[in-house]
Amino acid sequence: MPAREDLWNLPEWFYPIHWTLVILCGLLVAYGLWRRIRLWRMGRPIHRTDRMGWRLGGLALYALGQWRVFSQGYPGLMHGLIFYSFVIFYIATSLIGIQMDAGLPILRGTFYLIFEMVVNAATLLFLVGLGLAAWRRYLRRPDRLNGHRHDALPPRWGYILGTLAFIALTGLALEVMRLRSQAPPWAQWSWLGNAIAGLFGPPPTQPPPVYPYLWWVHQLSVFVLIVSLPYTRFIHIVTSPLSILFRQSGPPGALPKIEDIEETEEPLGAGSVEQFTWKRLLDGDACTECGRCQAVCPAYAAGQPLSPKHLVLDVRDRMSRYPGALWKWQEPIVARLPFLRRLALGNDVPPVTPLIGEGEDSIGEATLWACTTCRACEQECPVFVEPMAAILEMRRYLALEEGRLPDTLAQALRNTERQGNPWGQPRHRRAAWAADLDVPLMADVGQTEVLFWVGCAGSYDPRNQRVSRAMVRIFRAAGVEFAVLGEEESCNAEWARRAGEEYLFQLRAEENIKTLRRYRFARIVTACPHCFNTLRHEYPQFGGRWEIVHHSQFIAELLAAGRLALNAHRGWELATFHDSCYLGRYNGIYDAPRRVLAALPGLQLAELPRSREQGFCCGGGGGALWMEHPPGRRINDLRADEIQTLGPSLAAVACPFCLIMLEECVTGREMGTPFALRDIAEVVADALPF
Ligand code: SF4
Ligand code: SF4
Repeated sequence: MPAREDLWNLPEWFYPIHWTLVILCGLLVAYGLWRRIRLWRMGRPIHRTDRMGWRLGGLALYALGQWRVFSQGYPGLMHGLIFYSFVIFYIATSLIGIQMDAGLPILRGTFYLIFEMVVNAATLLFLVGLGLAAWRRYLRRPDRLNGHRHDALPPRWGYILGTLAFIALTGLALEVMRLRSQAPPWAQWSWLGNAIAGLFGPPPTQPPPVYPYLWWVHQLSVFVLIVSLPYTRFIHIVTSPLSILFRQSGPPGALPKIEDIEETEEPLGAGSVEQFTWKRLLDGDACTECGRCQAVCPAYAAGQPLSPKHLVLDVRDRMSRYPGALWKWQEPIVARLPFLRRLALGNDVPPVTPLIGEGEDSIGEATLWACTTCRACEQECPVFVEPMAAILEMRRYLALEEGRLPDTLAQALRNTERQGNPWGQPRHRRAAWAADLDVPLMADVGQTEVLFWVGCAGSYDPRNQRVSRAMVRIFRAAGVEFAVLGEEESCNAEWARRAGEEYLFQLRAEENIKTLRRYRFARIVTACPHCFNTLRHEYPQFGGRWEIVHHSQFIAELLAAGRLALNAHRGWELATFHDSCYLGRYNGIYDAPRRVLAALPGLQLAELPRSREQGFCCGGGGGALWMEHPPGRRINDLRADEIQTLGPSLAAVACPFCLIMLEECVTGREMGTPFALRDIAEVVADALPF
């Protein structure tokens, strides 16, 4: 009967030595992992153990199922081949261990033949996967795999790929030698080893004397790989699943609230590594350096000084070199043998410059202010690392602890504090856009069906005032009972929160919630995805809970209910839609604005190359609207170029920030083939029969 012969051609005494080494490896791995866990634990608390069923489901989908990894062809195939072959090797080794140690004869008969066939297939696919990885990382070298500042040619990945390939090849060589010597009648089931064995002519009369030596070389290389797990990038096979398990469970658009902000004595935000939450520190070890976040980052694309990948690795490096990362008794040893420090911590010296600043190892302030909070990086990351959250924790520190803010942003914050809007316009002019429209005020009517939340842009920015007026026409055409707050409405300061100014945000949130509680209404409708996101996901942190609807959803509802009749459009043939990050990525609303455009008779809709989940930011979020453009190209110019290349006659948006940013490009420069830029409410209002 076909059966696996354990320890073929090896003396019995190999076995206890082998087990001694296994135990030693286990201890070294446990020690190394414990060191990393100790580093993560120095971070601040953050609650990530709720909804365990959902978390475990995600672990199965994203770690075992590699769901996000497979969303990209070449890297997905490459990693899938390596990962699943590795899983098969792990299962195969466990089965061999069970047979040898528990004395259970499981590798027998048909099961053993299938085992051999599968392990042979896994060996070949594993080597193909490693080849694809090496070719991509070291020969093709796409920009997103560029090296970190301490790691110009990612040598630590080379070590992992090389060691894995060496283990696979020596394992295959051992099998070839065994098959040539034993020539079992079932050899064809070990189809890869058997085919290679056939290349070497007739079988030898004696087992090759080199076999036991090669067996040790193979075993020792496996042990070296295992021991290096917590000390090299190989650690990601443990930390990436942990990052997936402890991913954010609430709405992605809600930033965590600082409780008792006025009383707390804790430093606000993160100005040093131990002030990050523990998930941020785990993120550094979980990052696989795949660069997917960098490839989708609009700030990086525009040549601005921000790469989310490098930022995560900067935090990781500083954590590793944190003075507390070594034990006291280890210091004199590594002082004499610095390579040990490098081996253990990845670098020779502790950082001497502050976390945020212009020092050699610091994260520059310009890097932090370049982020538009578009969330593309977090949506793209296959292992749920959160670079944007790290940026926002550092911004909080700059704003609340240091008061270090770009001048124009600081002015917008002062305006919001004094006048309730970042434009610095008088509060009493908030409803001036509707002076001739006879729009009802909540203060007069007390209750209504729809409270139209106009927002600061819709109230004060002349371009967006046209959108507010269009909304009034739509409400009236559909016979919707509505009213506005007028002077009582105040900026919700969501952009201030994302610029780090949590204190101002909380003041404005409490004030607005107090105002809203005075009136009765069925739902709030707003044309601004930023207001929508904050009212919907962040005001509940302060007890404000209402039904919040974005105007794209609301208009789509009215159209579906037959409450709006639209005329033919005014000469536009091809339209495209630019997704707002806060509507799409933050809230998953992609179809509603497209349904609105599709309702316009005769208008054809074409998608931009980067649309829906892959939509490209306008460059205006996260307070960027109130900051000077950072060095590099302007993000809105990149997007306007993309629209222009598609060649639509109409580019529609559903966000006041997108409208302002893209309008700047349309009106501020010579565009070869200009396109009309409109909010969807304007498009619909224009098509109303009266
Ligand atoms: S949120 Fe957007 S701009 Fe900020 S780092 Fe991520 S991808 Fe870049
Ligand atoms: S943060 Fe995520 S997407 Fe970015 S390099 Fe690391 S693993 Fe890849």
